[in-house]
Amino acid sequence: MAPTPERYAKILRVLRRRQPTLTVLMDEVNKPHNLSAIIRTCDAVGVLEAHAVAPRGGQLAEFEGHTYEATSGSAHKWVPVRRHEDAISAVRALQGRGFQVLATHLSQRSVDYREADYTRPSCVLLGAEKWGVSDEAAEAADLNIVVPMFGMVQSLNVSVAAATILFEAQRQRLAAGMYDAPQLSPEALRRLSFEWAYP
Ligand code: SAM
Repeated sequence: MAPTPERYAKILRVLRRRQPTLTVLMDEVNKPHNLSAIIRTCDAVGVLEAHAVAPRGGQLAEFEGHTYEATSGSAHKWVPVRRHEDAISAVRALQGRGFQVLATHLSQRSVDYREADYTRPSCVLLGAEKWGVSDEAAEAADLNIVVPMFGMVQSLNVSVAAATILFEAQRQRLAAGMYDAPQLSPEALRRLSFEWAYP
């Protein structure tokens, strides 16, 4: 069925603000509601596509069930998740595409997440709820970032950390005018507007 003119205008408005140079890599994030909440934030900030490594002994397909849909508020329809075999090969592949990988990881070289330059092509690497980002993946990343915390508890919920960092990226990109003109090529805009209009 053809979209209404209003619906088509909304699709174009959203696609013109999509940020193909901003993404996340979820490394074995295993709770569906966390993955869904991260995807919902990705949609709000304008992430074009996300990346994920399936949890050990689990499958990303698990996220395609009811919980995923309920928590993402349908955002999963607009932010595809590309799967990778493991974190290191995903980091290398994204770096090969020109992304700086920012691992959310507490280490000797960690900096406050606000010190990173998110106007550069950037991928935020997020770790599993239980064990976080592995030392190897953090080492392979270009920068280690943390959201400073002053409480009794040692870490944030992963979706809260993702939102905090992605909205800082949005803030920097707004200031740099990166939402003012389409970041997608005219060809990609045409193709995606057709795909979104006729799902
Ligand atoms: N025990 C794990 C550890 O030592 O890393 C805790 C993992 S935490 C619950 C899950 C994920 O949330 C982390 O891998 C990271 O991606 C994100 N996260 C939590 N707190 C954070 C913070 N203060 N700064 C940046 N990322 C954080």
